[in-house]
Amino acid sequence: MPTTATEAAAPPNQPKPWAEGPTAVAGYDDGTINIAHEALDRHVAAGHGGQVALRWLGREGGASDLTYADLCERAERFANVLAAHGLGPGDSLFALLGRQPELYAGALGALKAGLVFTPLFSAFGPEPIRTRMEIGEATALLTTASLYRRKIGAWREAMPGLKLVLIVGDEAPPGCTALGPALDAAAPAFETVRMDSEAPALIHFTSGTTGRPKGAVHVHGAVAYHAYSGRAALGLAPGKIYWCTADPGWVTGTTYGIVAPLVNRVTMIVDEAEFDLERWYGIVEREKVQIWYSAPTAIRMMMRAGAEAAAPYDFSSLEFLASVGEPLNPEAVTWSAEVFGQPFHDNWWQTETGGIMIANRPGMEVRPGSMGKPLAGIEAAIVEREGEDVRELGPQQVGELALRPGWPSMMRGYLHEEARYARAFVGGWYLSGDLAMRDADGYYWFVGRADDLIKSSGHLIGPFEVESALIEHAAVAEAGVIGVPDETAGEIVKAYVTLNPGYEPSEALEREVRGHARKTLGPAVAPREIVFRKTLPRTRSGKIMRRLLKARELGLPEGDISTLETDET
Ligand code: ATP
Ligand code: MG
Repeated sequence: MPTTATEAAAPPNQPKPWAEGPTAVAGYDDGTINIAHEALDRHVAAGHGGQVALRWLGREGGASDLTYADLCERAERFANVLAAHGLGPGDSLFALLGRQPELYAGALGALKAGLVFTPLFSAFGPEPIRTRMEIGEATALLTTASLYRRKIGAWREAMPGLKLVLIVGDEAPPGCTALGPALDAAAPAFETVRMDSEAPALIHFTSGTTGRPKGAVHVHGAVAYHAYSGRAALGLAPGKIYWCTADPGWVTGTTYGIVAPLVNRVTMIVDEAEFDLERWYGIVEREKVQIWYSAPTAIRMMMRAGAEAAAPYDFSSLEFLASVGEPLNPEAVTWSAEVFGQPFHDNWWQTETGGIMIANRPGMEVRPGSMGKPLAGIEAAIVEREGEDVRELGPQQVGELALRPGWPSMMRGYLHEEARYARAFVGGWYLSGDLAMRDADGYYWFVGRADDLIKSSGHLIGPFEVESALIEHAAVAEAGVIGVPDETAGEIVKAYVTLNPGYEPSEALEREVRGHARKTLGPAVAPREIVFRKTLPRTRSGKIMRRLLKARELGLPEGDISTLETDET
C-alpha cells in the first residue's frame, strides 16, 4: 500500500489533465524541467517578450511595468549574482521583502539558478524568521537594509551557513551585498539550470493556524499542476489581467501570485500596499482587472464597508472572482454577486497540496457556502479513520477530506518532520485534517478543522456553520466560534464577534444576535454566549485563529504565535 506522495502514483486509469491540453508544460527535451523556464524563458523564446508580465503599483502611487523580457533579464542577472557567489543547486534563498519587483525577479532568478526559494512575510518578527531560516538551512537571503538591521543583524553570526545576504538598493550594511550594483555588474543572460522534476524548488511554511508551522517541500515538476490548475480553477489565460492579492509569504501569493500566472502568460497586477478599500476598488477599475483572487478576510472587510462604498466604481472588467484560505460564508457569495456582478468563487487547497484541489470553477453553478468540486484529475473522498486504514463515507456524511496522492504539486515532505509527513498518508489517501461533507451532486462543503470541531450534548458542530449564521445578522462583521468545556453538555458553543460600523456592544444586541442564531441554527447549535470584540486574532494570511481564542478563554498557553498578525512591522 502506498504511504507517501512519491510512492503513490495516480492509478493508471485516472486521467491526468495536467499532462495534456493547452496548459501542459513542455520541460526540456531531455526530461528535465525548471519552473522559471516555464514561467519566463518559454514565453520569451516564443516571441512574447514584449507582453507586460508584471504591473507594479507602488505604495506611494506610481506604476511600473516589467515585460516578460524585462523580468527574464532581471531574473537572469539575479541568477548570475548567485552563481558568482558560488550558489546553485543544493542552496536555498529566503526572501524577506515586501511586494516589490526585486522579490519577483529574485524568486525566478533563484529558481533559474537551481536554488530552493522560500518567501517569508516581511512583517514577521526576528524569531519566526530565524527559526524558519534555520529549519530551511538558508544559504542566501534577499532583504532590505532596514529589515536586515531590525530583524536579522542581531543573530546573523549564529548562522554561519548563511553565505550571502543581498540588500535591495545601492548600499548594504557590513557583511552584506548591495543588490543594485551587483545586478549592474552581472551579465544579462543566464542559462537556466535544468532540474530533475523531483528536485526541490519551493519551501512554504504553513499558516500556523492550528499550531507550529510546518515547512512543506515542493518540486520543480509541480509547475505542471500550477499551470493546469491556474487555468482550470481561475481561468488564467494569455493576456488576461489578473490580480492575486495574497502576499508571497503565503503559499497562495507564490503559487498563484508568481508561478501559475506567469506560466499561463497573464499580466499580473502587484500592489505593494496593504488592504485599503478605496485603493483596491480603484485598482480593479483603473487596471481593468479581469480575474481577481482574494481571501474571505478581505471580502468581509468589503462587506463591512457596505455596497455604498463600492457603488462609485466601475467593475465591468471583472470576469472571474475567486477566494481561498478560509471558508467563504454564503453571505459573502451573494453579496459579491450583487455588488461586483460576479460572485466570489470559493476554492480549497492547502500549503501541502501545492495547488487548488476543489473549486467553484469558471462556468460552474456556484452553490453559496460550498467549496465546489474537485478539479478534473483530482480524486477526493470523505473518509473516516479506522486504525491504520480509512473507510470512505457516502454523500451527506461528515468526515475527513482525503485526496488520492499522485498529482504533481503534492508536497514531498515536511522539513525535518518525517514522521508527521508519513502520518498524513493512510490507506492510500492523503488526509487533509479538514472535515467536510459531499452532497449528492458532488459539491464539497467545509465543516471545520478537525481540531475545531465542537461536541455539545451529543451534537457535532462545525464552527463555520455557526459563524456563517452569525454574520447574516446586520450588526455582525466577523465571528470566531469555539467550544468551551461544560459539565453537562461536554462543550458549549461560544462566539467572538466584531461589529459593523454603526453598532455598539450591548446586552440587548447580544440577546438579539443570539436570538437570530437560535432561529437559524436551532438551540442545540446556536452559541450560548457571545462576546463582542474590536478585532479577532488572525494569521498574517488572514485566517481567524480559533485555537488562540480558545487558549485565552481557558487560560492555557498560547502555543506558537509566530504568524499572529500584529501592528508591529
Ligand atoms: P497550519 O497547517 O499551520 O495550521 P493552515 O492549515 O491554515 O495552517 P494553510 O496551508 O495556509 O495553513 O491553509 C490551509 C487550510 O486553510 C486548509 O486546510 C483549510 O483548513 C483552510 N482553507 C483553505 N481554503 C479553504 C476554503 N476554501 N474553505 C475552508 N477552509 C479553507
Ligand atoms: Mg494546515
